[in-house]
Amino acid sequence: MSQKIYKVPEDFAALAHLRLADYQRLYQESVRDPNSFWSRIGRRLDWIQPFAKVKDTSFDEHDFRIRWFYDGKLNVSANCLDRHLTKRGDKTAIIWEGDDPKLSERITYRQLYERVCQCANALKSLGVKKGDRVTIYMPMIPEAAVAMLACTRIGAVHSVVFGGFSADSLAGRIADCESSVVITADEGIRGGKRVPLKTNVDLALTMPKTDCVKHVLVVRRTGIRVPMYAPRDQWFDDVVNPQPKECAPEAMDAEDPMFILYTSGSTGKPKGVLHTSGGYLVYVSMTHELVFDLREEDIFWCTADVGWVTGHSYVVYGPLANGATTVMFEGVPNYPDSGRFWQAVDKHKVTLFYTAPTAIRALMREGEEPVKAWSRSSIRLLGTVGEPINPEAWEWYHRVVGDGRCPVVDTWWQTETGGVLISPLPGAIDQKPGSATLPFFGVKPAIVDNEGNTLEGACEGNLILTDSWPGQMRTVFGDHQRFIDTYFKTFPGRYFTGDGARRDEDGYYWITGRVDDVLNVAGHRLGTAEIESAMVAHPSVAEAAAVGYPHDIKGQGIYVYVTLIADAQPSEALRTELRDWVRKEISPIATPDLIQWAPGLPKTRSGKIMRRILRKIAANEHDQLGDISTLADPGVVENLVRERMNRP
Ligand code: ATP
Ligand code: MG
Repeated sequence: MSQKIYKVPEDFAALAHLRLADYQRLYQESVRDPNSFWSRIGRRLDWIQPFAKVKDTSFDEHDFRIRWFYDGKLNVSANCLDRHLTKRGDKTAIIWEGDDPKLSERITYRQLYERVCQCANALKSLGVKKGDRVTIYMPMIPEAAVAMLACTRIGAVHSVVFGGFSADSLAGRIADCESSVVITADEGIRGGKRVPLKTNVDLALTMPKTDCVKHVLVVRRTGIRVPMYAPRDQWFDDVVNPQPKECAPEAMDAEDPMFILYTSGSTGKPKGVLHTSGGYLVYVSMTHELVFDLREEDIFWCTADVGWVTGHSYVVYGPLANGATTVMFEGVPNYPDSGRFWQAVDKHKVTLFYTAPTAIRALMREGEEPVKAWSRSSIRLLGTVGEPINPEAWEWYHRVVGDGRCPVVDTWWQTETGGVLISPLPGAIDQKPGSATLPFFGVKPAIVDNEGNTLEGACEGNLILTDSWPGQMRTVFGDHQRFIDTYFKTFPGRYFTGDGARRDEDGYYWITGRVDDVLNVAGHRLGTAEIESAMVAHPSVAEAAAVGYPHDIKGQGIYVYVTLIADAQPSEALRTELRDWVRKEISPIATPDLIQWAPGLPKTRSGKIMRRILRKIAANEHDQLGDISTLADPGVVENLVRERMNRP
């Protein structure tokens, strides 16, 4: 792995919230005395009834509890809107950038406040009460944020389902949490293509266990004619527009449920992750401020869809709780061309830019020209999240997109963690490409071997968390036992992340991939991230996915799926070259046994490589692919299977 160090740029550090000494002092305090630390931090929110109790947590199966700020009462939407009105009423809360580069819109805090109140009143008029579930199945348009905030205003629990999911996946998620209302749009538009959202809802609501839904509100996005079934279906505007622009916020207990969100399904059946009101909002607002070193005048752009946790925490709740300006992007990185991000950065003078390694790798494939065509001079910080970032991609992001000026924050976290857990603080912590670096305040990571023994110093193994933090999920909706079994049984009394990690001599963490994906080759543990990073460092390779397969001699052999860059051609010579390349980059142990050309890789709809499926294909177990419904493009799998079957 890369051992290059990128120092915090001096000019950045000079203006940053925190320097290294601050980080060290505050981190020590946060783990030594979490009650006093979080009691101070918790006051960053407006509480209807201030909390006196702070932390009450135990991961012990027989005495299990996770409660934060638990005698306080607050309202999430009031924290995101009402309290900003005096000072920031005319400040832009949301900049909406359409799929069509000609479309954009700015919404002030006051406008957003009024719209949210109207939507909250509309939900009440449909009989939605505190604790009821509302499913939101929307394109990336401001109404998605309005709907989310309106739910939190009245204490309804939202479940946002990514607009790219099929009717089947939507139905499963509606049935699982028994929503009474679905908010959707006639259609979505992404990359110039129409997404039939309302039609999918109609189909979903014919499926088993979805008769809990009594009302469907439909936003007009494209204006296409869609069937409206009375009395169930109503146009969003017809119900919302006549409503009063004031709606008293519901006083919620800090531990009242706030939202349910299903994980992206990389490892199997998605889990209905439940987050609560107080701890979640404290945690996302704090991480948003410090990880991105937020200033009042910043324009913050997180490219994630609100259908993922990243969109919840860093498009909507973190930025709005902090009174920031947040960009909401309806489109995709390569439409109408691969300069789309940078064109929009220049248009809105974006200062903080946060995206996923999958997008960076896709743009890297297209070369530097589409980036260099735009100035990007407004950007002062770059961030990534979602998968391990290959050092090669990190360097490209830093050098080409950031012109070598901007710190890069590689943020490791999960749907389950609510917010960022391991990441550089940009003014404090030097970066190493490919490392998420050091834990955020209050976060206590540790590395254990398979028997659960804690490893010290530089080491590699399973990444666990030994104590709670306010943004932690509280349960799997409707299945508390699954929550305990999934996260607290493997290493009793500790939260198991499911990820593997290495810690180096400087205490920096390097996520090596999911533990299920770790290879064991002739007794050597190899992280998928390491092999893939070596592959991607080769000039002809755009993307790679490594998995193990049964091997007579070594136990496990290394099977690598390789996507070449646009102008490279597959050949036997290249195959040999790539094998030698990895051998040289890592070690002979890591030499791939088989390389399969893969024009596309199976990915979740959030863009993560699904190695679980690649493992089955490599092992010739084509009849055991499992649940592939969360795949973005199931056609990719057929192709790979066909290629695999043709091999001797
Ligand atoms: P499921 O839990 O259903 O299998 P998922 O784990 O992909 O789906 P998410 O919660 O969206 O669902 O993703 C969290 C995972 O993404 C982490 O556990 C880790 O594997 C990976 N990840 C996120 N950020 C990073 C990062 N900066 N570096 C390395 N890995 C990351
Ligand atoms: Mg996961």
